[in-house]
Amino acid sequence: MAYKKIVMLHDKNIALVAHDNKKLDLVEWAKYNRDLLAHHKVYATGTTGEILERELGFKITRFQSGPLGGDQQIGAKIVADEINFLIFFWDPLEPMPHDPDVKALLRMAVVWNIPIACNRASADFMISSPLMDGKYDRLIPDYEGYHTRKIDRAKAQDEASGTIS
Ligand code: PGA
Repeated sequence: MAYKKIVMLHDKNIALVAHDNKKLDLVEWAKYNRDLLAHHKVYATGTTGEILERELGFKITRFQSGPLGGDQQIGAKIVADEINFLIFFWDPLEPMPHDPDVKALLRMAVVWNIPIACNRASADFMISSPLMDGKYDRLIPDYEGYHTRKIDRAKAQDEASGTIS
């Protein structure tokens, strides 16, 4: 498969998100790593961001609350390469009203090959990686082949007109 390179610089655009039962975990983690985080641009979903800004004492760009669309806003920023690092402490023991959004956000992180940590141990390994301190060439599959894929136009038209289901 062909790949494209996207260069990640030393200062990254990091999104932090935590479900309610995981917010304390994320706050503790972020406070412990405050100095490492401070020189990056930090984004967060609404409530997570409000708590983190208070606890860390530096500016965090806040989106909507997750269940109100914040996860989707972060996903869109990943697609636009405006967020390139995700710490997402999601709760494995509670069903969420916005489960499809959570899945979509995780999916976008994989589609665009950004580093993603979903628990404290992964976040610890990620933030202390030597790769944090320099440039990193992120390899993105070259999706040109997808854009130029062959579509069976007759079948698509039949489907659109309801001839076949
Ligand atoms: P919140 O959203 O930070 O607004 O609580 C998190 C989420 O549920 O995705």
